[in-house]
Amino acid sequence: MPSQEWESLGGVITTNISSVSWSANRIDSFARGTDNALYHRWWDGQNWGGWESLGGIITSDPTAVSWGPNRIDVFARGTDNAMYHRWWDGNHWGGWESLGGIITSTVSAVCWGPNRIDCFARGTDNAMYHRWWDGHNWGGWENLGGIITSNPTAVSWGANRIDVFARGTDNAMYHRWWDGHNWGGWESLGGIITSNIAAACWGPNRIDCFARGTDNAMYHRWWDGAHWGGWESLGGIITTEPTVVSWGPSRLDVFARGTDNACYHRWWDGAHWGGWEGLGGIITSNTSATAWAGNRLDLFVRGTNNAMFHKWWDGHQWGPVAGIAVNLHIKILTSPTRFTIADMVAAMRQVYATAGISVNLASTQVLNPADPALAALNDVDTGSCTMGAVSAEQTALSNFRAGAGALDVVVYFCRSVSYASGGLNGCASFPANRPMAVVASYCSRYTLGHEVGHVLGLFHVSDNNRLMTGLGTDNITNPPPDLVQSEVNTMIASPFTN
Ligand SMILES: [Zn+2]
Repeated sequence: MPSQEWESLGGVITTNISSVSWSANRIDSFARGTDNALYHRWWDGQNWGGWESLGGIITSDPTAVSWGPNRIDVFARGTDNAMYHRWWDGNHWGGWESLGGIITSTVSAVCWGPNRIDCFARGTDNAMYHRWWDGHNWGGWENLGGIITSNPTAVSWGANRIDVFARGTDNAMYHRWWDGHNWGGWESLGGIITSNIAAACWGPNRIDCFARGTDNAMYHRWWDGAHWGGWESLGGIITTEPTVVSWGPSRLDVFARGTDNACYHRWWDGAHWGGWEGLGGIITSNTSATAWAGNRLDLFVRGTNNAMFHKWWDGHQWGPVAGIAVNLHIKILTSPTRFTIADMVAAMRQVYATAGISVNLASTQVLNPADPALAALNDVDTGSCTMGAVSAEQTALSNFRAGAGALDVVVYFCRSVSYASGGLNGCASFPANRPMAVVASYCSRYTLGHEVGHVLGLFHVSDNNRLMTGLGTDNITNPPPDLVQSEVNTMIASPFTN
């Protein structure tokens, strides 16, 4: 059975999620917040940034696409029912730009080439409308007719080619296509469907469409370049619209929610349908799926607490793997000078992984050391720096725990750390029920992992082969340093791992 775990990425979101990847190991996810603004979190290959507010007041799910590296275009409906657009050009966010219209659906957007975007939405007359960016100007709104009773779904299998799908008044699936010169269709592809349509192209002149039927099973029709096959029932009882993604030729991965509100998965490997595979969770949205490389999948859903949750396929297994983790929150008064925080987190993860403990960097927050409440704490005095005996300054710092749960460990990066006998790289004594450590800007690569080791109950040893050396982590002789079994047992038994 695959891992049923999901990684919480926090936030309070009020729409489905739209995710896009513009290069390997890069993901950008978008959703609406409680203030109806657009919010953004991104994975840069090592850490999650955001949530970043991109403002606006949106009245639909957002739709994000990318036509090239470091480029993102996001579309949504505004309070005046016009289509709005924000874009990331690699350096800045442009927009919000109104693209006009009066739309009554979410926007479907597709990019068939660099600097080309085609947007589709339903109008007030229930016809389908089209606006496009040709690299210089916005064309349209072009009326493509029809009477559609779902969101439009647009895909492209090649340059200057677009296929758009929607449900008609008879609940059949309809199709229009752009061949580079003219619009063909509307063509009825039959069926009686009860959801929006999901579509993907895994190669030139190939399209696979998925929708829910009247029996709530998932159905599939496909274009093989010459003919339409299907409708094929893929079974199941699904309670959301399906989502499809392809990470390579002849490969399809389809997701939907089941009657138990868990996420379910079926896949086509080129020869057979696998699944339904239960992926756990209790989800309250459609599944947003993206693939940034072959045999790689990233899923995003909303949970019952309205936070965003993430699950990924790494080619071998579904993460996060159920296991022991420490939740870490970093608060920065002064950034470290000799190593980056990313380096120090990576070093900590490398050592903790040997104990089977994953390090979840739950948040990173920059604090302002000029804030009068923090000014004296940037050079923090830890008194005796012994367990159970904390200084007034450590106690004052411990009030800055925003975002951290009671059992999460907060590490404060300060300009300097001192105690009664001089300077320290860090100190891990903490007030009751506020697990924390302080780390100095001149600390070593392993200070972060070492201080959190203290928080988890470890003591010093006189051995420079080990993380918990009391002789200075700069003197570690065999990176990555060791954790011995008794230390691993202590860490796993700590209330601050779970
Ligand atoms: Zn120590």
